[in-house]
Amino acid sequence: METVHINGKEYPVELILKNRGRSASARLRDGKIVIRIPKRAPESERTKIYENLRARCIRSIEKGRWREKKKLKLEHGGKVQILGKEYEVKVIEGKNRKVKIDGNMIIARTPDGNGIAERLGRAFLPEVEKRTRELNATHFNSEIASISLRNNRMRWGSCGRDGRISLSTRLLFTPPEILDYVIVHELAHTKVKSHGERFWGLVAKAMPDHADKRAWLRKNDSEIPTIVCRPKPPRTAASGAI
Ligand SMILES: [Zn+2]
Repeated sequence: METVHINGKEYPVELILKNRGRSASARLRDGKIVIRIPKRAPESERTKIYENLRARCIRSIEKGRWREKKKLKLEHGGKVQILGKEYEVKVIEGKNRKVKIDGNMIIARTPDGNGIAERLGRAFLPEVEKRTRELNATHFNSEIASISLRNNRMRWGSCGRDGRISLSTRLLFTPPEILDYVIVHELAHTKVKSHGERFWGLVAKAMPDHADKRAWLRKNDSEIPTIVCRPKPPRTAASGAI
């Protein structure tokens, strides 16, 4: 594995050749630059893509634009803030993976400590759903096909053409009014797809101080944890495979 030095720090660069998908990507993970390139890209092109992405990563880290996102690990006896409320975490050993909310306790059952965080999103979905339906009834009155929480790192939310709203589980670790802003944003997309004047007008009508919320998200992005839920190591190409 190649190592690059940026601002006096060492960063290994890992290359993963992915079987699926068409686009290449780069990410900072556990102090490592991870570059993913589709296997279908011709070998001559892979080197070019790799070098390009690596150069871009180095520039971003140098300029401090690219910081690693915090990760959340749930531990027995630990405390976690979710949607503005503090919960105590209890981890019980058991055969099935399950997360239950009981008052101010999060009870997680797992055989090996893995996969708990992923289920946390599911446990809080009813609360997020309720909030979305309330905001929709008050401001938009749109047809909503479904609401889901996904462990998405790159986007806070999305709204499909058919009224499918998807929100990032990372929003669980933001203050409730921030979650409300992202919900309002996606609900506004049920009326207007693009981010034009009409769109922002709808957002402003439902939430006059939406600009503050957006500024908060930009400022705190790297501090809002990503849930760790990947017990299996990713498929890795042998280093120097390009
Ligand atoms: Zn949008």
